[in-house]
Amino acid sequence: MISDLLLPDPLRAHLMKEARNAFPRECCGFVEGTVSGAHARATALHATRNLAVEPDRFEIDPAVQFALLRRFRGAERGIIGCYHSHPNGRPGPSARDCVAAVEEDFLWLIAAFDEKACETATVTAFVSTGHAFSPVRIESPSLDRFEAPPL
Ligand SMILES: [Zn+2]
Repeated sequence: MISDLLLPDPLRAHLMKEARNAFPRECCGFVEGTVSGAHARATALHATRNLAVEPDRFEIDPAVQFALLRRFRGAERGIIGCYHSHPNGRPGPSARDCVAAVEEDFLWLIAAFDEKACETATVTAFVSTGHAFSPVRIESPSLDRFEAPPL
């Protein structure tokens, strides 16, 4: 079971931006990466259209899901999870998310949009255990420290 996730800072920033752009609707998509034992590593995000009509839910286009699964079949990297945003600002999975979490050991990233702060979203991660979730620790290595500080 996945217990921690390496989510590079640019990917986290991208997710927060997507949540902001979709507001007041939910954004959604897939997380590409690798899993080694309890350690997951995100390498890319694949945004998908949100087919849901209601503003407070998401529905990923199944055609996109199948295309991605096909593309990564047999590859070292694969689809390790999905992501969506919570425009209501709640950082944890909703009751509806639990119903949808049928696939075990599948990562769920949630970008909880903070309406008051307007510019920020908190990213949390969970792993589905079959209609339930357990929290996943996120590590976001910044790329800044490898660059020279601004003058
Ligand atoms: Zn949700």
